[in-house]
Amino acid sequence: MRAAELRERIARHRKLYYVDNDPEISDSEYDALERELLAIERSHPELIAADSPTMRVGGEPADGFATFAHSTPLLSLDNAYGEQELRDWEARLRRTLEDEQPTYAVEPKVDGLSISLHYRDGVLERAVTRGDGRVGEDVTGNVRTIRSIPLRLIESVRYLEVRGEVFLARSAFEELNRRRAETNESLYANPRNAAAGFVRLKDPRVTAKRPLDCFFYELAADEDGLPERHVAGLDRIRDLGLKTNPLNDKCESLDEILAYVEHLRELRDSLDYEIDGVVVKVDELAVRREAGATSKFPRWAVALKYPAQQATTRVSEIRVQVGRTGKLTPVAELEPVALAGTTVSRATLHNEDEVERKDVRVGDTVLIEKAGEIIPQVVKVVETKPRGKRRFEMPTRCPVCDSAADREEGEVARYCTNVACPAQQREKLLHFASRGGMDVQGLGEALVEQLTAKELVRDVADLYGLELDSLSELERMGVKSAENLLAQLEESKTRPLNRLLFGLGVRHVGDRAAQQLAQSFASLDALAEAEAEALEELDEIGPKTAAAVRLFFDQPANRELIRRLVEAGLRPQPVEPPAPVAEDSPFAGKTVVVTGTLPGRSRAEAKKLVEALGGRVAGSVSKKTDLVVAGEAAGSKLDKARELGIRVVDADEFESLV
Ligand code: AMP
Ligand code: ZN
Repeated sequence: MRAAELRERIARHRKLYYVDNDPEISDSEYDALERELLAIERSHPELIAADSPTMRVGGEPADGFATFAHSTPLLSLDNAYGEQELRDWEARLRRTLEDEQPTYAVEPKVDGLSISLHYRDGVLERAVTRGDGRVGEDVTGNVRTIRSIPLRLIESVRYLEVRGEVFLARSAFEELNRRRAETNESLYANPRNAAAGFVRLKDPRVTAKRPLDCFFYELAADEDGLPERHVAGLDRIRDLGLKTNPLNDKCESLDEILAYVEHLRELRDSLDYEIDGVVVKVDELAVRREAGATSKFPRWAVALKYPAQQATTRVSEIRVQVGRTGKLTPVAELEPVALAGTTVSRATLHNEDEVERKDVRVGDTVLIEKAGEIIPQVVKVVETKPRGKRRFEMPTRCPVCDSAADREEGEVARYCTNVACPAQQREKLLHFASRGGMDVQGLGEALVEQLTAKELVRDVADLYGLELDSLSELERMGVKSAENLLAQLEESKTRPLNRLLFGLGVRHVGDRAAQQLAQSFASLDALAEAEAEALEELDEIGPKTAAAVRLFFDQPANRELIRRLVEAGLRPQPVEPPAPVAEDSPFAGKTVVVTGTLPGRSRAEAKKLVEALGGRVAGSVSKKTDLVVAGEAAGSKLDKARELGIRVVDADEFESLV
């Protein structure tokens, strides 16, 4: 039983060390405990358990990661840039809550990658990346090697899910890059990219050598039930031995939030990890349920992003890039400069008018800035000495294929006019395979480059003619990855029609337009025959988009491309249009007031539902009200409704009506 006792003591001391920052024993005493356990396990292998601290690096290299569906999606966060946007966000939230004043939790937004951990009977069972938010990758083997993450919790809680941010300390990042520079290896761009790469390494033994760390910011599930306050959830996970950020705080008002943001901004540079803002979250879970979520992010939280960071550097060259649509974009090549934790060596100049206006020339010193995830851009020239160089002139021919690059009336950009332009081909293929398109995993830049250079693929239809032999001979390919790619392509054949439409890259057709086109036309053929006028009748489609769609389908080359896709076996799935409002809807033409909390639905959702069913939603009860939906804890509005003799339905009745 000595082994069990040792494990418990080890768990307790590692919490004191990593979480509480208050060790009771010295490092060497701690090491002695681990060594003793190791010795016992060596002579009694039957005692080795998955949570043994000696088992951190057990995993074998894997070819790929298994996928895992999150129980509840890992949503993104709504962004606010600056005080005004934060005020707007709060006002919006309070309107939804009908002026209730929530308490806020405020936390540094650590810039790493999110991870979800599952503990069963107190033992780390699984670690999953965010992935697309719904399905992530099982990276348990690698995450087990992170020393500040416990393999066993202080208590054997039956089931627990926590979410957190894995990151690489700045000091560790710098040290790694210093060593790589010495050996002439390429440098990591920033701590976040490095951390993301390490978590997804094939060999956990390599990950184990990387000093990754993690802060946990959300108790997502607990078999014993979630505390009604977020902050209580954080206390609980801390008590269990999971590290939370010591800078987390609580605020009672917007002013307090703003003070916290300011305070953190001052601390920012002295922290050993990168933060890109402050996350503001409603503390009360009941209020969170009421506020609800959009498909992308919760309405009860927002990330206040620090303003764009700027730097100055010299322009060493101005190049012109060719995009998927043939669009030419001037890009400044820069003397590398550190900006917001990354090394920047290029920045966009947008288009020829912008270069002209800013008069950026090779040799100039420019101010560049970067906000959030967007690519850095040149703001202005700050120093022109020594000058004398020529003004930049936008080429009138494509820099890749030398065809004419024309600028149409009313456009700011020039476009390469050659449909067979290799640069366009590559970008088109990448767009087709992208997540919002046909989502062909494994078809990245390097592979597309090879496929086009070897002339195995010219356009998207060629992808479906790829064969195992020629594929597996490519660099860094192997039979296994070639098979995976072919399987991915096969799977993509039955993606919904909107994804295909998006993937084809019809000008002006983004994901919303694609969605509506797919809902309104059962097949590609039907869409190809539609008149521009018919297209324009759709909400998301303006005259410009309608004309672009028409133009796309009128071009013989595109018709031929579609014919080949169909011949290759593409069978895009039709997309159901939203159900029309039934005439006999119980809400049709009625004025409805929703009050109180409805289990399993936010008030905003309930209101939307009523509107979708033909009802009109009002904020207060009056004689004109036809119906009041009263959830739990409905207050004065319910009294008023009773007083006026208006029909009231409770949550259950409401559910059966909808
Ligand atoms: P974004 O991807 O920019 O929409 O921001 C959402 C991401 O912020 C989450 O997926 C987390 O990875 C990250 N994040 C960092 N710190 C926190 C925090 N304290 N609370 C919530 N999310 C955080
Ligand atoms: Zn070209």
